[in-house]
Amino acid sequence: MKTETLIVGGGLSGLYAATRLLQQKQDFLLVEGRDRMGGRILSEAPESHDGSNVPWAFDLGPTWYWPDQPRMARLLRELGVESFQQFSSGASRYEDPQRGVETFRNPGMTPVSLRVAGGMARVIDALTGRLPPERLRRSSRVTGITKNGIKLEVSLQTAGETQVIEAERVLLALPPRVALRSIKLIPALPQNLREALIAIPTWMAGHAKVVAVYDRPFWRTQGLSGHAFSHVGPAMEIHDASPPEGPGALFGFLGIPAEQRRSIDPEALRSAATAQFERLFGPEAAQPKALFLKDWVEDPLTATADDLAPLTSHPRYGLPPAAQKIWDGQLVFCATEAASRQGGFLEGALVAAEEATP
Ligand SMILES: Cc1cc2nc3c(=O)[nH]c(=O)nc-3n(C[C@H](O)[C@H](O)[C@H](O)COP(=O)(O)OP(=O)(O)OC[C@H]3O[C@@H](n4cnc5c(N)ncnc54)[C@H](O)[C@@H]3O)c2cc1C
Repeated sequence: MKTETLIVGGGLSGLYAATRLLQQKQDFLLVEGRDRMGGRILSEAPESHDGSNVPWAFDLGPTWYWPDQPRMARLLRELGVESFQQFSSGASRYEDPQRGVETFRNPGMTPVSLRVAGGMARVIDALTGRLPPERLRRSSRVTGITKNGIKLEVSLQTAGETQVIEAERVLLALPPRVALRSIKLIPALPQNLREALIAIPTWMAGHAKVVAVYDRPFWRTQGLSGHAFSHVGPAMEIHDASPPEGPGALFGFLGIPAEQRRSIDPEALRSAATAQFERLFGPEAAQPKALFLKDWVEDPLTATADDLAPLTSHPRYGLPPAAQKIWDGQLVFCATEAASRQGGFLEGALVAAEEATP
């Protein structure tokens, strides 16, 4: 099989690059290693009582975009996907091993954070729905890329079978680290370039998120915003994750370092998170009707062993100069980590896709 552009990865950057190639009337094939599109975008819905689809889902990956991110705003508008402001009215909670739980007034999030109604995966569903299904392959993992003359030969594993696809160029819409650690490139990249690419941290890959779903956002009636900081844990930062109407939800970023989380039973983590929500928001928080836990560091299509080291700040993203024209420009990195602006963020995934498909 042959294609002009083979896109590796069906996260936001890969799907947006595919959308642009479709608009440019170019030939492409997008291959995704997981059985779902979205990559780090993952929204889970609790089962409804009668088995029907519920209209909301809760984000276990990205939750927010911000008003200074014009591409996200434009994309949502074009796709007809609605957004709303993060709920942050009311008091916040703080807990500390010595002083216990305290309440404080928080001026609210600045700049205001925006969420997608129905969960961030709505964006992925809408983008996927506009692409020709025959140009998308799920559960197909790229294991090798060989430059053979002017062609690239891409080895693809689908259900235990290997297929080779010939392409004129390949867009690597996956974190550079994951690409370098899991895809064999022939000829190999120069050692210093390989090391520079592996040194680019995958944004949020070392994190874990917990979401507790309730019948209603009961904390709001107590004048609480659902926001909390904790030095007790397991969550270190908690926010209201409720949809615009309907049930209530709280989400927390776990504060336990990735390496240490590995030795804790996930069930124990879930119980500890529920107990923490109860300490912070009262007895109603003890009985969530659903509890989701996603540890991204355990997901090999997002994280590598390099991501066990915690990040203390948002890295400066973008590609090293030597990565701008690999294999005569036929091998192009285009996940958010490759973006020249807004790298790491959803907006960066759109920037990177634009830069790869001028
Ligand atoms: C917990 C968490 C919270 C976050 N919060 C925010 C937020 O609030 N706001 C924000 O802007 N950003 C946030 N981010 C970052 C945001 O998720 C990313 O910027 C964005 O989703 C990156 O999209 P991408 O397409 O570049 O990469 P990815 O989503 O990582 O997509 C890469 C794709 O490549 C696939 N893949 C990997 N290896 C192979 C292979 N060998 N063959 C085929 N396919 C492969 C993967 O399965 C994946 O689908 C968060 C991330 C996490 C994990």
